[in-house]
Amino acid sequence: MIDLEIYSPVQKINHPVFTERDLHVFIKRDDLIHPLISGNKWRKLKYVLKKAFEQNKNHLVTFGGAYSNHLLATAAAAALFGFKATGIVRGEEVDNSHLFLCRLHGMKLIFTDRESYRHKPDLFNRHFGNDEQAFFIDEGGASAEGALGCSELLDELIQPYDDIFCACGTGTTAAGILNGIGKHQLNTHLHAIPVFKNGAFIATEMERYLTYPLPYSLHTEYHFGGYAKTTPELIQFIERFVASTGILIEPVYTGKMMYSLVDLAAKGHFKPGSHILAIHTGGILGLLGMTGKFNV
Ligand SMILES: *Cc1c(COP(=O)(O)O)cnc(C)c1O
Repeated sequence: MIDLEIYSPVQKINHPVFTERDLHVFIKRDDLIHPLISGNKWRKLKYVLKKAFEQNKNHLVTFGGAYSNHLLATAAAAALFGFKATGIVRGEEVDNSHLFLCRLHGMKLIFTDRESYRHKPDLFNRHFGNDEQAFFIDEGGASAEGALGCSELLDELIQPYDDIFCACGTGTTAAGILNGIGKHQLNTHLHAIPVFKNGAFIATEMERYLTYPLPYSLHTEYHFGGYAKTTPELIQFIERFVASTGILIEPVYTGKMMYSLVDLAAKGHFKPGSHILAIHTGGILGLLGMTGKFNV
């Protein structure tokens, strides 16, 4: 049925800043869950797909930009679990490695102008209003089911952490993690890093899915110019991080999250002796569309 065995080990990360500040920093390798249904995307899809299956829907319809990790994850999951899939893609027709892999997994793509894209239920009804089998999945997999899947990350932890770091797009993953912290009554502080400019709105998005309204920190100053924007500083940080740890991170999500963790550590934000967990939410194929930004 709809299940994947989760392989997501926790590994220690060494960095001179962490040593200097006496911090024990670990990374939860959700990127290793599946090469394409990567990281938080599998956690977010799990209960969405279960719901589709229970409602006897065999056609997944979802939304994303041309580099959407969610679109690709849905295409791969659809193929794996026997669904048909359509991706409604924002903007004019283009081709890239993400969309190639979507099509390779059998996903049909419909390109749509940016104005229509804003009205997703209308788009769904226009194209699939007569398709009894069609099942709507929101952009990025944002849903209560998605948050429930992400909360299960906390079930897998075998040691307590003082702090957990996570990148935010829709905020579903961060909300799920906070719910997991609440469910296990942990004394863990969540740090959510929006990858957009003016990311304070993520608090409202997260609120839709919170079952445990615990305090957490939203660090809105690590967007590096906005969604998928980079700076030479971020790129250099990623180059050094990958070369010195052997763990791939990318500029859109995990690079910004990891930068924030190192920056806050350097600024003395954490008590010496703290145990900190960074969530690797996957998405490393995004690197392939950005090779030109690197100096290596
Ligand atoms: C989609 C994605 C996120 C954002 O997750 P949300 O639940 O939408 O906040 C974070 N990191 C990576 C690598 C992603 O692909």
